[in-house]
Amino acid sequence: MEIRCGNCGKKTIVNTDLIKGIIGGGMILSGAVGWVTYAFAGLLGFYGGAALIVTVLIAGGSSVLIGKDLNLVVSVAHKIADLMNRRNYPCSSCEATDWQFSGFEDADIIAGDEHKRELCIALRDAKKELYIASGFLSSNVVNEHFVQELEAALVRNVNIYLIVSDGRSHSSDWMKPGYKEALSKLTKLSEKYTQLDLRLTHTHQKGIVVDDRYAITGSFNFLSNKKVVRKETSLKMYESKAISKFKRELLTE
Ligand SMILES: [Zn+2]
Repeated sequence: MEIRCGNCGKKTIVNTDLIKGIIGGGMILSGAVGWVTYAFAGLLGFYGGAALIVTVLIAGGSSVLIGKDLNLVVSVAHKIADLMNRRNYPCSSCEATDWQFSGFEDADIIAGDEHKRELCIALRDAKKELYIASGFLSSNVVNEHFVQELEAALVRNVNIYLIVSDGRSHSSDWMKPGYKEALSKLTKLSEKYTQLDLRLTHTHQKGIVVDDRYAITGSFNFLSNKKVVRKETSLKMYESKAISKFKRELLTE
């Protein structure tokens, strides 16, 4: 993971060696989980699963975090940045001690309203392929404007996969009208363009994939959530193996 100096903006990668240097070599137990448990259960009060997340974060491989509780991951990351501050670890360029968590080496965190921006960017930026998965479907999001943007991408000859939950997830009375309206718009479009693959399935998956460039997955229902009332966090990753694995997962029946 990366931390950023609040004073000068310099970014520093936090890895195992850095943490060991800060905690002090003499106190480190031999096994990886041993010293992480010491460092974080002892100093910051993390146990069990959270202590294991620390190991992953400082090992640098963010794709391992797919499917984990990202709110927990981010709060653990903030605590690691706090540890640097508590131990007075100075910035190498300005010597201040004002560290903040700034992301992962090979992935970013998408939070709250940023999900909506990511959806707009994905629709405009996709060149060959676009996947959008959503646990729910609503005309609040799939409105005239959305359909126009989707159609523009289809006209550019982008192959689009929409993976959405079927009627089973939309049986409540308050959901039905918006679901039906959105579905009829998308169905019409899929009859007009063969490059639109509309897949109704029993799913709770959420995510976006843009070409082979990046994938986003987390808690956000891209095709139904307009107001973003609750906390939402997703991981945006750029690692090609993780991207193709995620694509396969979305298309598997
Ligand atoms: Zn600095």
